[in-house]
Amino acid sequence: MSNAETFPEIREAVRRLCAGFPGEYWREKDRERAYPTEFVRALTESGFLSVLIPEAYGGSGLGLGAAIAVLEEVHRSGSNGGASHAQMYTMGTLLKHGSEAQKQAYLPKIASGELRLQAFGVTEPGAGTDTTRITTFARRDGDHYVVRGQKIWISRAEHSDLMVLLCRTTAREEAARPSDGMSVLLVDMRQAVGNGLTIRQIRTMLNHASTELFFDDLRVPVENLIGKEGQGFRYILDGMNAERILIAAECIGDARFFIDRASAYAREREVFGRPIGQNQGVQFPIARAHVQTSAADLMVRHAADLFDDGQPSGTEANMAKMLASEASWFAADTCVQVHGGFGFAEEYDIERKFRETRLYQVAPISTNLILSHVGNHVLGLPKSF
Ligand SMILES: Cc1cc2nc3c(=O)[nH]c(=O)nc-3n(C[C@H](O)[C@H](O)[C@H](O)COP(=O)(O)OP(=O)(O)OC[C@H]3O[C@@H](n4cnc5c(N)ncnc54)[C@H](O)[C@@H]3O)c2cc1C
Repeated sequence: MSNAETFPEIREAVRRLCAGFPGEYWREKDRERAYPTEFVRALTESGFLSVLIPEAYGGSGLGLGAAIAVLEEVHRSGSNGGASHAQMYTMGTLLKHGSEAQKQAYLPKIASGELRLQAFGVTEPGAGTDTTRITTFARRDGDHYVVRGQKIWISRAEHSDLMVLLCRTTAREEAARPSDGMSVLLVDMRQAVGNGLTIRQIRTMLNHASTELFFDDLRVPVENLIGKEGQGFRYILDGMNAERILIAAECIGDARFFIDRASAYAREREVFGRPIGQNQGVQFPIARAHVQTSAADLMVRHAADLFDDGQPSGTEANMAKMLASEASWFAADTCVQVHGGFGFAEEYDIERKFRETRLYQVAPISTNLILSHVGNHVLGLPKSF
């Protein structure tokens, strides 16, 4: 069974919801670099963003399989889940490693959408992908941590009530291992902004609410520490698997969008007295995109099954993300080519989706880093860094 056949009721409901947000809506948001508040609200109110939260805390507890169905359909419809997807999985760190009191306090409100947990602060300008080199530091001062440092590329920080923040509580040089000495804090953005936290927007080639964060002695109550001090890196890695699998599902949705559009256009557009899709030079790349997408789709489903079964899924999550992001990029490039000049016209939404899907070969983890994981950890090849 392919992913496209799972959770048919959810898929149908998501398609209906997305039909209320047509290309023109997304084009305007893209032009203005504006946050799609109405879309995120509709998705929240429908309950689709709380499918990973257990029923005991107000969600539907359906697991990644259902979350995949939601995000894949969002993307296949031409919409973009980037503004909302973090509300689904960022709470995983709290769910897995938070105290019962923290879970009771936050999860039901995240499930209802009363609290937006859309921001996840890891990346720093000086560290890049080498997360153990982060230097944003949380110093203990009585019943508070005092945070100083800087983050970059933090999505949706201006549209979030809470942020899961990774920072050092022990300097790298003083920690037993480089990955020790990092901790996760839950930052209340409503209190933080203007009181030690400054947010600066970064304009990018896609509409992704990207920001840079500056921490200048931000005070965070000690009770907002998630799990044990110094163990944060491990907690964050756990959450990243869900993120990679869900973003892979968005890529599958994007790829299907491009394949649907390319096939329709290739059937209709006539040049030299015949549909362009009759030419194998046009038909074969579309068929290849379908083949690649179907294979990637199976890997996404496999990774999600492992995750939902509580089994290790890091390698599969990485492989799914790589295959799906490459399949969507190939489908995007093919779709532009098939449309000729119209591939570049805003009103076709193809150029927008083309820009949007390119992101996923870089974020949340770049292809080279996935290959290096597979080389070292799966194939036993020498470590290069
Ligand atoms: C739109 C957008 C949204 C984002 N949202 C968030 C967010 O919400 N929260 C967050 O914390 N981060 C976020 N990120 C950051 C994202 O996770 C990083 O950009 C990504 O992981 C790559 O890290 P980097 O940009 O620091 O690249 P670098 O680490 O500087 O790497 C640059 C290039 O060099 C390659 N490279 C580096 N080292 C090696 C090596 N040893 N071998 C081979 N190749 C290597 C990489 O593969 C990459 O292609 C976002 C980024 C973008 C662009």
